[in-house]
Amino acid sequence: MRQGEVASKGSWTGNPLGGVTAPEALILPDPATRFSRTAERLEALSTGHPMADWLRFMARLAQAQHIAATTLRPIVGPEPAAVQQAVDAGMPPLAADGHRRDPVWRDGLAVLLDRMEGDAIPAPARTIVAKLRELHAEALEALADDFLLGGVAPDDAGAALYVAAALQVYFTRLAAALPAAFLQLLPERGLCPCCGSTPVSGVVTASGSTPGTRYLYCSLCATAWNHVRAVCITCGQSRSLSLKGIESDTGAVKAETCDDCHTYAKMLYQAQDMKVDPFADDLASLGLDMLVAEAGWLRHAPNPLLLIG
Ligand SMILES: [Zn+2]
Ligand SMILES: [Zn+2]
Repeated sequence: MRQGEVASKGSWTGNPLGGVTAPEALILPDPATRFSRTAERLEALSTGHPMADWLRFMARLAQAQHIAATTLRPIVGPEPAAVQQAVDAGMPPLAADGHRRDPVWRDGLAVLLDRMEGDAIPAPARTIVAKLRELHAEALEALADDFLLGGVAPDDAGAALYVAAALQVYFTRLAAALPAAFLQLLPERGLCPCCGSTPVSGVVTASGSTPGTRYLYCSLCATAWNHVRAVCITCGQSRSLSLKGIESDTGAVKAETCDDCHTYAKMLYQAQDMKVDPFADDLASLGLDMLVAEAGWLRHAPNPLLLIG
């Protein structure tokens, strides 16, 4: 199997003389395009979709994230020595549950709340936005901690959408500023090497010098990392994997199910559609999640923007 890389912010490190090239182990996100691409793709996928209104709402949120990601003041990331220390210990340098947040993430939340108002937004969402605006810093930090530690209370699920979206902006900007040369994949290959979060989906490339590589995309910081194909991303077994899709669609989105650990993860195939986006296509293929869940497989990890179910 030939392996390739996804053209992104990272420079290409292939061998110009030809021969076998190794895929890049990880590709840091580019905050200038990460959210605008998702917004564009969600808009495109909404046409004729049974959940068109919701996808357009999520496109609007992604567009608001783009504005936050490209206009907020710079964040000071961890010192290179601290990054090196974490990497040497096999730990993610931005460990989402242990990282001390810069309050700028709340400025990002304010940008999102400003953009998610008006008649285009359904009334229940406007109520949640209005409530969030009244919360003090400590309450917002507590919501962020609950989200990052996986303990969002059912009553807070609506608010958690915006908190999660603001934290995606924050961690994406932080990851983008990490010293790429220091970073390494974690011993636990199913987790993000920058922040330790679970992936939202995987993309199997069809472009670049060596197509056919699988990259998992971090659900929080959008870092992409190489993960061997035909190995379950949850339990590492390869005995009982299979791909399930919806017959009537393009075949670009499949659920990779594992009968060893009874989980599944979404995989997107550029060979079927070069425009797949790991965040947008995951949301737009909720129907596939429902089918696979009904058949008894558990999703490997939730999409952070879908905690409300
Ligand atoms: Zn991450
Ligand atoms: Zn498994």
